[in-house]
Amino acid sequence: MSHKIFELKDEQDTIKLGTKLSGLCTEQTTIYLHGDLGAGKTTFSRGFIQSLGHNGNVKSPTYTLVEPYNLEPWQVYHFDLYRLADPEELEFMGIRDYFTSDAICLVEWPERGQGILPSPDIDIDIRYQGDGRVASLKANSGVGQRLLENLELS
Ligand code: ADP
Ligand code: MG
Repeated sequence: MSHKIFELKDEQDTIKLGTKLSGLCTEQTTIYLHGDLGAGKTTFSRGFIQSLGHNGNVKSPTYTLVEPYNLEPWQVYHFDLYRLADPEELEFMGIRDYFTSDAICLVEWPERGQGILPSPDIDIDIRYQGDGRVASLKANSGVGQRLLENLELS
C-alpha cells in the first residue's frame, strides 16, 4: 500500500499521527509536510518530536529555517522553508549535512526547496475538513512504504 488517509478530528489526532509515525522510524527518514498555513504541520511535528523525548516547545522555525533536536538515537531536523526565497539558499546552509544516517528530517513548505532538497520517504498533505483535518500520506520509497504499511491511528 502506497497511500493512506487519516481523518484527524482534532488537534490530539494530529499529535497522535506524529507520535505513531515517530515510533515506527528505524532508519534515516525524510518526511515532507504539505498544507496551508494553520493546517497542522507544526502540530504533527510537535507530536513527532515530543514523543521522542523532547519536553520543550516545538514551533515552526520560520526565521531560522531549521531547528535541530538531539534526541538519542536520532537527530531530528525540523525545517520550515516558508521564508526561503531561493532553493539555492539551502546550499549555503550546507543542506547535505542534515541528511545523515541518524537523521529524521521533517520539512514544512518543501516546495520552496524544490530541486535541492533530497526527496522524501513520505509526503504528508494535511487539509481542512469541516472543523477538523484530513491527512493523506503517500509513500515515496521502500522506507516510506514500510512505515505506511505499519501506521495505524487507533
Ligand atoms: P501549520 O504548521 O500547518 O501552519 P500549526 O500546526 O502551527 O499549522 O497550526 C495548526 C492549528 O490548527 C493549531 O491551532 C492546532 O491547534 C489546530 N489543529 C491541528 N490539528 C487539528 C485538527 N486535526 N483539527 C482541528 N484543529 C487542528
Ligand atoms: Mg508550521
